[in-house]
Amino acid sequence: MSLHVRTPAIVSSSLSRASGRKVWLKLESLQPSGSFKLRGIGLACQEHAKRGVKRFVSSSGGNAGIAVAYAGRELDIPVTVVVPETTSPRACRLIADMKAEVLIHGASWQEANERALAMLGDSDAFIHPFDDPVVWRGHATIIDEVVEDGVQPDLVVLSVGGGGLLSGIVEGLQRHTLNCPVLAVETTGASSFTQSVARGERIVLPAIESIATSLGARQVSEHAFALVAEHRIDCAVVSDLQAVEACLRFLDDHRILVEPACGAGLATLYRNVVELADYRTILVIVCGGATSTVEQLIAWRHSLSSASNIEAEICTSADACRVTLQI
Ligand SMILES: *Cc1c(COP(=O)(O)O)cnc(C)c1O
Repeated sequence: MSLHVRTPAIVSSSLSRASGRKVWLKLESLQPSGSFKLRGIGLACQEHAKRGVKRFVSSSGGNAGIAVAYAGRELDIPVTVVVPETTSPRACRLIADMKAEVLIHGASWQEANERALAMLGDSDAFIHPFDDPVVWRGHATIIDEVVEDGVQPDLVVLSVGGGGLLSGIVEGLQRHTLNCPVLAVETTGASSFTQSVARGERIVLPAIESIATSLGARQVSEHAFALVAEHRIDCAVVSDLQAVEACLRFLDDHRILVEPACGAGLATLYRNVVELADYRTILVIVCGGATSTVEQLIAWRHSLSSASNIEAEICTSADACRVTLQI
């Protein structure tokens, strides 16, 4: 039995109206860990459990850490999550609530991750948040379910951080010989995939400058980057403010709370971005995320919009120009 649940795909009246297209939502926000991550990470943990490992170790203070903690609790295997000092108290609590040990170490994820790797014993398994074929295989079950439900999109919209979700969705589409293109969405300050595609090489961002921390991989996985050569993948970038506004609007429309990482994808539909122009039936992977509160979203909207809408607009179009010039 899997640790994740089968999620519904529903038609969204509000996103369909906003975009003038038929929009399906795959509700990964309903996973017991709050995000799609449980599909791949749950599968990886189950496979390690079969080999008899005695502990799972993770270095994610976000939804991957929460998914590992959930999987460990269900499989009755201890979990240690090493998180950087920047991790919010709320995220630490969500992990600790699932009985995992939380160790706070280092100024950034790099240091926390090094510490996690250094502490691995022979009977421990390190669970990578996005760069593992087993994780992709688990995420691919999203498409198995969509196909079973008879949903036939002509575009799949999803968010990209390190590229694990993208890798899993493309694997699922290929498994069912579906040629359906994918729109990969990021926020401006976390656009490592978009910039890599534009440059034709896998770039490393000097820093993550986005509140969508779940999209904050400074470099996407080699596998995700290589997929652009075998599957049609388009890119879109939205601002943090657009992602936050999409979260708040989605909360009103669907009574579902998601992180800005997920709001980024939703924003492309609410804003009916040009990248959607050729498509009629769109499937959005509502990837979810457990780490933001309503209060936090409202505070972000306030601080991001008082940094002035004008500045945000200049910033987004400058980024778009840079990307265009690089092509
Ligand atoms: C992890 C995560 C992503 C990005 O997934 P990757 O596999 O790293 O590309 C997007 N949204 C949410 C809510 C996440 O937790």
